[in-house]
Amino acid sequence: MKVIIIGGGLAGSEAALQLAKAQIDVDLYEMRPKKTTGAHKTEYLGELVCSNSLGSDDTGAASGLLKAELRKLGSFLINVADECKLPAGNALAVDREMFAGKISALINSNPYINVIKKEITKIPENTPVIIASGPLTSEGLSESILKFTGSNHLYFYDAIAPILEKDSINFDKAFYASRYDKGEAAYINCPMNEEEYNRFYEILINAPKIELKSFELENNAKFFESCLPIEVIASRGKDTLRFGPMKPVGLIDSRTNKESYAVVQLRQDNMAATLYNIVGFQTNLKWGSQKELIQSIPGLENASIAKFGVMHRNTFINSPLVLNPTLQTKTIDYMFFAGQISGVEGYTESIATGLLAGINMSRFMTGKSLLKLNTVSILGALCEYITFPDHKNFQPINSNWGILKDLDMDRKIRKNKKLRNQLLAERSLNYIDSLF
Ligand SMILES: Cc1cc2nc3c(=O)[nH]c(=O)nc-3n(C[C@H](O)[C@H](O)[C@H](O)COP(=O)(O)OP(=O)(O)OC[C@H]3O[C@@H](n4cnc5c(N)ncnc54)[C@H](O)[C@@H]3O)c2cc1C
Repeated sequence: MKVIIIGGGLAGSEAALQLAKAQIDVDLYEMRPKKTTGAHKTEYLGELVCSNSLGSDDTGAASGLLKAELRKLGSFLINVADECKLPAGNALAVDREMFAGKISALINSNPYINVIKKEITKIPENTPVIIASGPLTSEGLSESILKFTGSNHLYFYDAIAPILEKDSINFDKAFYASRYDKGEAAYINCPMNEEEYNRFYEILINAPKIELKSFELENNAKFFESCLPIEVIASRGKDTLRFGPMKPVGLIDSRTNKESYAVVQLRQDNMAATLYNIVGFQTNLKWGSQKELIQSIPGLENASIAKFGVMHRNTFINSPLVLNPTLQTKTIDYMFFAGQISGVEGYTESIATGLLAGINMSRFMTGKSLLKLNTVSILGALCEYITFPDHKNFQPINSNWGILKDLDMDRKIRKNKKLRNQLLAERSLNYIDSLF
C-alpha cells in the first residue's frame, strides 16, 4: 500500500525520502506551481521561503544540537544542506537554489516516490497519509483539516507572547502568587510602581514593529479581534494595559503586603517548569525592542528570552489535542502530521518532524512499534512540548534549551550556561547513539 504525503516542502520532502529509504511507495502531492502559497517563488520541492539560513550549526546552541541529532538520525535534507553550505560563521546557511534543486532531483529520481503536482483539497480517507502542507496550507485543505480536528483545533495566525527561561528571573523582585490567592500560586509576578510603568509604556509605545506582508493582511481583522498585540492595546490609552493583561488587582506581594501599580504575569510553559510565557504579551515588535521592553520590567532585567513574540499567518493544528508525541493522530492511526502545521516553528524543526513522521509511518506500515523519542533530545522534547496536553493557549515553538529535560546538576553548573548546554548536548547525542 502507498503512503500519501500532502506538501512537498521541507517536512514532506524529508518524510518522503525516509519512507523511500524503507522501500515504501509514496505519492507526494505538491500544489505548486499550479497554485502558489503567496510566499514560495519557485516550483522546487523543499524551497526555503525566506532566509537562506537554517540557524546555528554549533551544538552550543539548541538549533545546532537539533541538526547534530538529525545527522545521526540520517536526515536527507540536512545532508543536502551540508552539501550546499555557504560561509556564514556558526550558521548553516545554504545556496537556496542549489538546496531546493538537489532535493527536487533526489526526489524526482527516486523510484519509490511519485510526485504529483496537484492541490489536495480533502484529506484522503482510508489510506495512510502524512499532512505536511505547511504554514500556508491552501484554503480547501484547511477546511478539510478543520472538519477533522474540530472548529477550535486549527489556527490561522501565530500570536505568540515571548517565552523566558525561568533561571534568568530575579526573584528578589518577582514573586509567586495567584490572583486573590485562588488555587496554587502558579504565576510569577513582576510588580511595577508608577514610575516603572511609565518608563515601560514609553518604550512600548515608541518601539518599531515588524511590517506584515500582503498575504498576512488578508484576514487581519479576524486576527486582531481574537488576540490583540500589547502595542495595539497600549495605543488605546496609557492605562488600558493596567486594566487588561497588566491588571494588579488581587495580586499581593507577601513581602510588602501590597498591590502594585501594574503587574506583568508569567505562566508556566512546559512540564519541566523551566520556561515561562508572559501573559497577554503577544506582540509584533521588532526583536531588539522586545528585549529592551522585557528587560525594563522589574525582575526581568537579565531575562533570557527562549522565544520572541511573533505574529504572522500560520496554519497549525492544536497538536496537544490532536497528536501523540510520535506525530500520529490520536484518533486515526494511519494519519500523521509533520512540519510547521504540527506546531513546530522553523526550517530545521520542520525537517525534523518530517523525519520522525516518515520514520514512524514506515514503522506503522511494517507493523513495528512507533518511535517516541526521549525528552533528553531536542527532537523528543519538541514533540513532547507540542503535544503537552495542559497548554492553556498552545502556540508553535522552535528548538530551545528550556524544553529539554533538566539535568540533575548543582546550581553552580546550572548558572554556567556554556557548561550546562555542553552537558545537555552530550546527553542528547549519547541517547541518539543508543537508538542504533
Ligand atoms: C513567510 C514565511 C517566512 C518564513 N521564514 C522562515 C525563516 O526565515 N526561517 C525559518 O527557520 N523558518 C521560517 N518560516 C517558518 C517555517 O520554517 C517555514 O515555513 C518552513 O518552510 C515550514 O516547512 P513545512 O514543510 O512545514 O512547510 P512548507 O515548506 O511551506 O511546505 C508545505 C508545502 O505544501 C504545499 N501545499 C500547501 N497546501 C497544499 C495542498 N492543499 N495540496 C498540495 N500541496 C500543498 C505548499 O505549496 C508547500 O510547498 C517562515 C514561514 C513563513 C510563512
